[in-house]
Amino acid sequence: MTAANVSPAEIARFDQLAARWWDPDGESRPLHDLNPVRADYVAARVDLRGAKVADVGCGGGLLSEALARAGAQVTGIDLGEKVIGIARLHLHESNLKVDYRKQSSAELAASEPESFDAVCCMELIEHVPDPAALVHDLAAMLKPGGRVFLSTLNRTPAAFGAAILGAEYLMRLLPRGTHHYAQFLKPSELARLLRIEGLELEDVSGLGYNPLNRKAWLSRVTAVNYILCARKPA
Ligand code: SAH
Repeated sequence: MTAANVSPAEIARFDQLAARWWDPDGESRPLHDLNPVRADYVAARVDLRGAKVADVGCGGGLLSEALARAGAQVTGIDLGEKVIGIARLHLHESNLKVDYRKQSSAELAASEPESFDAVCCMELIEHVPDPAALVHDLAAMLKPGGRVFLSTLNRTPAAFGAAILGAEYLMRLLPRGTHHYAQFLKPSELARLLRIEGLELEDVSGLGYNPLNRKAWLSRVTAVNYILCARKPA
């Protein structure tokens, strides 16, 4: 992700949420609810003890902290000044160590190429202008044999209904304008971007979520949220 692969409006939108990021009942509530399932998904595929992990677009650090707690050595990057500030501040509360940097994925890929056992990029790709460039950066950071994890929203009527109509308009869980339907990627489209970078797709799973009882689970239904894992050949 070069400096050009960023939408300043997106960064500003998330920075506005920074102060309440760690409030499980605030605007980041769906991320709080999905986080244990995402962290378990990664932990099931990478031995996190001592692993070097990058969390790209880490926000306030929900996943970064979960991975650090599981024993990983985590570098979290985001271009939001305020979200990175909140992520750093929260380490005082959690007593964990995460290396948070205000940096683009292109910068991290250039300064630490082939350095990470795992690269996580959750709920970011639908917010960048050039998803292919982002996937290129993620692949460049990975050690041979390392795994990349991405989660995002599918471009289906069901995802439009759940993530935009449901979450932004009906339930008001998320601020309006958080998501743009045209930027959602189908799993096949994301798989193609991974293939172009020479990564081998290992799994695509649906991420089920019920905002009423706040339960989240892995499923075979990828129509709304999904998470995937791909490996860089050794
Ligand atoms: N990955 C975190 C946060 C997701 S919210 C989680 O799932 O818990 C999306 C985050 O991406 C926000 O923190 C926002 O600041 C960041 N972001 C948006 N565009 C970005 C870009 N081009 N480069 C880096 N981070 C970006």
